[in-house]
Amino acid sequence: MMISSFHPPERTLMGPGPSDVSPRVLAALARPTIGHLDPEFIRMMDEIKQLLQYAFNTQNELTMPVSAPGSAGMEACFVNLVEPGDKVIVCQNGVFGGRMAENVRRFGGEVILVEDEWGQPVDLNKVESAFKANNGVKALAFVHAETSTGVRSDAAALAKLARDNGALTIMDAVTSLGGIEVDLDGWGIDAVYSGTQKCLSAPPGISPVSFSERAVAQVRDRQSTVPSWFLDKNLVMGYWGEGTKRAYHHTAPVNALYALHESLLMLKQEGLEQAWARHDHYHQALKAGLEAMGLSLLVDEAYRLPQLNTVTIPDGVDEARVRSRLLSQYSLEIGAGLGALAGKVWRIGLMGHGCNSRNVLLCLGALESALIAEGVKLESGAATAAAAAVMA
Ligand SMILES: *Cc1c(COP(=O)(O)O)cnc(C)c1O
Repeated sequence: MMISSFHPPERTLMGPGPSDVSPRVLAALARPTIGHLDPEFIRMMDEIKQLLQYAFNTQNELTMPVSAPGSAGMEACFVNLVEPGDKVIVCQNGVFGGRMAENVRRFGGEVILVEDEWGQPVDLNKVESAFKANNGVKALAFVHAETSTGVRSDAAALAKLARDNGALTIMDAVTSLGGIEVDLDGWGIDAVYSGTQKCLSAPPGISPVSFSERAVAQVRDRQSTVPSWFLDKNLVMGYWGEGTKRAYHHTAPVNALYALHESLLMLKQEGLEQAWARHDHYHQALKAGLEAMGLSLLVDEAYRLPQLNTVTIPDGVDEARVRSRLLSQYSLEIGAGLGALAGKVWRIGLMGHGCNSRNVLLCLGALESALIAEGVKLESGAATAAAAAVMA
């Protein structure tokens, strides 16, 4: 077999991630690789830290990108903060809360599970009851933006509950960062992890994390050694920490960090508020179009994510055939349902660079034609007209 260079097809990515990467970020990725201890590289690392502090709205000294995907950022939070025997309340209302619970178990912690239905936000009353029923809870863990369902939970209220009960807060902000408000310091979040491939629109593979002083103190004062060498923050701090002489820990993914730097710079240049408003605006347009097609969104408006739209699949439609038609005819990727929602919903992402008028119209037009091919009776053109009216 003759193997030649790989040239990916040109796609429009409107699934749950990765999202479309802007040409500016792709260009940054292709710049020459330099040494990861080169003074110029270290200068860029310091800028990444500042830009992440801006994006997370935090002064946390320990704010850095983990050299691995969002799942590793999740693991970095739990492996550092959970010791054998620690009680952790984990809120599960979708796929990712379940993974948090699995992390706690694997590091010897005791999981106190607070479950909510898929499509519902975390119920504050249930969390309050869990605190009342259990003494000495070390941490409360929850997913801010559940990508498997399209639900936003009330991070500020959850963090306050944790603080009132003397517990740390661990938050998943993989899909929220850059798409909706994230306010680490205002809310009092102790440990957070995110990802590059959702609303930051950089290539997948890096996970920004941030730890409060309270969390850093807990890591420093642990009884037991962090059971992961790679993710041990005590060691990584020697590499990323300011003021210290940078010591070799691992070779940073140099070019992937150029891309992250560029995508964070784009977010800064746009402004956080403006980015959140843009996500809301195009979400409103997409929603108007979907509703004009007779489709409905799974999640109640009060806690619906603009960047991840969960659309109920109409009766009699072969959802996988629709997705493959979108991919083959329009080079458009949307997401399937996950876990309890598999076969019941599509997940349409409007994330970061991909959250724009062109993608809204492409998705609505393509979906309309795919549904007509499935035999659904539709008024042709109504969806794009409704979206265009919102965007006008
Ligand atoms: C995507 C995602 C993750 C995992 O990120 P990876 O980069 O795929 O490892 C974790 N949590 C949420 C909410 C996500 O959407």
